[in-house]
Amino acid sequence: MAEIKITLSGYKCERCGHKWVPKKLGNNPRVCPKCKSPYWDVPKKVKR
Ligand SMILES: [Zn+2]
Repeated sequence: MAEIKITLSGYKCERCGHKWVPKKLGNNPRVCPKCKSPYWDVPKKVKR
């Protein structure tokens, strides 16, 4: 069996480093499922 690389679309929490794959794409979670941070997609030292 050939070895291939499968890339999944998922999310990574910038706060705790937790990575997860949503069951529904496009359903961007509001908070990290692990640390419950609403700023999981906002890198540190970056202000909007
Ligand atoms: Zn997190």
